[in-house]
Amino acid sequence: MNTQQMNEDAFELKMQQLVKSQREYFNSNVTRSVEFRIEQLKKLKKIIVEHENEMHEAIYKDFSKSKFENQLIEYYPLLDEIEIAIKNVKKWAQHKSVKTNLLNFPGKSYLVPEPLGVSLVIGAWNLPYNLSLTPLIGSMVAGNTTILKPSELPTNTSSLMAKMINENFDSNYLHVVEGAIPETTALLKQRYDKIFFTGSPMVGKIVNKAAAEHLTNVTLELGGKNPSIFTKDCALKMSVKRMIWARFINSGQFCITADYALVHKDIKEEFLKLAVQEIEKNNFSVENSNFVQIINERNFDRVTKLIDQNKVYYGGTFDREKRIIHPTILNNVSLKDAVMQEEIFGPVLPVIEYETLDEAFEIIKSFEKPLAAYLFSDSNATKERFLNEIPFGSGAINDCVMQISNPNLPFGGVGHSGMGRYHGKYSFECFSHFKGVLDKPTAIETNLKYYGYSEKRMKIMKLLS
Ligand code: NAD
Repeated sequence: MNTQQMNEDAFELKMQQLVKSQREYFNSNVTRSVEFRIEQLKKLKKIIVEHENEMHEAIYKDFSKSKFENQLIEYYPLLDEIEIAIKNVKKWAQHKSVKTNLLNFPGKSYLVPEPLGVSLVIGAWNLPYNLSLTPLIGSMVAGNTTILKPSELPTNTSSLMAKMINENFDSNYLHVVEGAIPETTALLKQRYDKIFFTGSPMVGKIVNKAAAEHLTNVTLELGGKNPSIFTKDCALKMSVKRMIWARFINSGQFCITADYALVHKDIKEEFLKLAVQEIEKNNFSVENSNFVQIINERNFDRVTKLIDQNKVYYGGTFDREKRIIHPTILNNVSLKDAVMQEEIFGPVLPVIEYETLDEAFEIIKSFEKPLAAYLFSDSNATKERFLNEIPFGSGAINDCVMQISNPNLPFGGVGHSGMGRYHGKYSFECFSHFKGVLDKPTAIETNLKYYGYSEKRMKIMKLLS
């Protein structure tokens, strides 16, 4: 056996032990108490607040994300998520009454939410705090123990989260395991009660297979090609303003941003002009705190290869040393172009012209079901058609990405873009099982179901059920 094999075996053994001790801790029932959950969530909030500056510094080191942008899309949404959880956990954890049918009279029926057990949360890199800690909060508020594996690509945020959690919480309850593919593979060999994964559909399949091995409940938060449609009657100036901000924030490394724009042919020239104006007004740059670096060279090379210089309408320039790709618009894009063969996940916007809504919808449906979809239109009939005919995880009408900022809306994909949903009370549900319970007093009993079947009894049973 070589050294590498010995190290891998030792790591796997450690993970086995970690899961075992978390399961023992869960079985002690400590985490089930609502008071315990509130206390731990308050503790997590305090730790996050105390580490605010370190969090900004770490993410700046990873991909030059500014304090302002980190506060806007990571830090404050995380604090909101914890506050909502603390405020509502008592209500969420209560039994929920449902109607009882006559056949079970005089019984009561209710749902009993219960934690699933030991959770594994695997995070993605583009919003490293949010995509690791938001599911962690969901797991905690539902009363589970959790092993968190953040993405290894932003190394500074990953090790900061490990420090924040591992130095402050009992590893039987919460523990961060850092690592890349070998570590995640070893983690995925263990048996959990819940796996929550955020990342690409390709790795999602690996995770789903590992979960199937143990029949583990799984949530997959994946990606896809998110469309945005601009109809002839849309409020073009406002629509472009909203979409361009959402398209280039985080340098387009945002799973729910609009991947491409379908623009009606009669407004396309005006759309392009306004899009350029908006990009220039926003003045996207790291120095202006509203742009970030591409996460690594691999992604930089992948995204720049998608830019067909013959189709560049605006931008198309980049700097490999600084890992910066300037906001780019591609015009006259066809479905055969490289940029339409995969999720872009970078600051490149392909524009495709369409003539009829049927044609636009057909293009959208030629791809897998997207994580998000956006319609910019003034027509109620078009809005209805969009909602009825286009499958998507979450979306917006006359806006882009902002649905994520409403904690009352669930967040999640469908089909290739994922399964399951979370945020706010949906996170609680995501990490819980709802036991369906019939609770009957013993004083009265209808004898219909007992021995001695007859046609008449069957008819009565049917009426009562
Ligand atoms: P990724 O799938 O490469 O990595 C995600 C996680 O999986 C990381 O923690 C990584 O260490 C682990 N991993 C990678 N390869 C693995 C393997 N072979 N076996 C086991 N584990 C492995 O995704 P990414 O590059 O971090 O993120 C980009 C993708 O994630 C995009 O498709 C994007 O749309 C999607 N995404 C989705 C959401 C969402 O909420 N739905 C949010 C952000 C990103």
